[in-house]
Amino acid sequence: MSVTAFIALGSNLDNPVSQVNTAIGEIEHIHGIELKAVSRLYRTAPVGPQDQDDFINAVVKVETTFPPLELLDRLQEIEQKHHRIRTVHWGPRTLDLDILLYGSEVIDSPRLKIPHPEMKRRGFVLVPLMDIASELVLPDGSPVSELVARLGPDDLKIRPAVL
Ligand code: ATP
Ligand code: CA
Ligand code: CA
Repeated sequence: MSVTAFIALGSNLDNPVSQVNTAIGEIEHIHGIELKAVSRLYRTAPVGPQDQDDFINAVVKVETTFPPLELLDRLQEIEQKHHRIRTVHWGPRTLDLDILLYGSEVIDSPRLKIPHPEMKRRGFVLVPLMDIASELVLPDGSPVSELVARLGPDDLKIRPAVL
């Protein structure tokens, strides 16, 4: 049985556009994950500490046979391959992979929270998600299109990345 999941990608170190594109290729090549759609790439102001470069963000839609924690394991292996070092919370990173949604499941465990707890507030997640899933409704009944419409100007400091 396979489940549709959405994964957010972010990078602001070491050629972020190529980090994100490489990561999408790596996700696609995992046995047990089928890549279904890829958003545009966006350039966005950082969350948290402002003394760091802008981020490149994207969202992908996949179908996977992995249970949620195993999907997280696979994504964290990709983060490690990109030499991600965890230093400052919300600080610069070569690659961040967050599971936004896993079917319509709601998960609240120490290692994994789905839907991603911050996704409803984040333009850099919702805008790319709109590219590939404009009709999507979150498990709590919120349509993604409405969440985007409600974003404030500060949450919309996001523009398509010029490649
Ligand atoms: P934020 O979650 O606010 O975007 P972050 O991405 O910078 O912050 P990380 O340091 O990348 O946070 O992740 C910390 C931990 O969050 C991970 O080790 C993972 O166990 C946990 N986590 C909880 N829910 C999720 C999720 N939906 N996707 C990815 N990681 C998650
Ligand atoms: Ca994140
Ligand atoms: Ca993360």
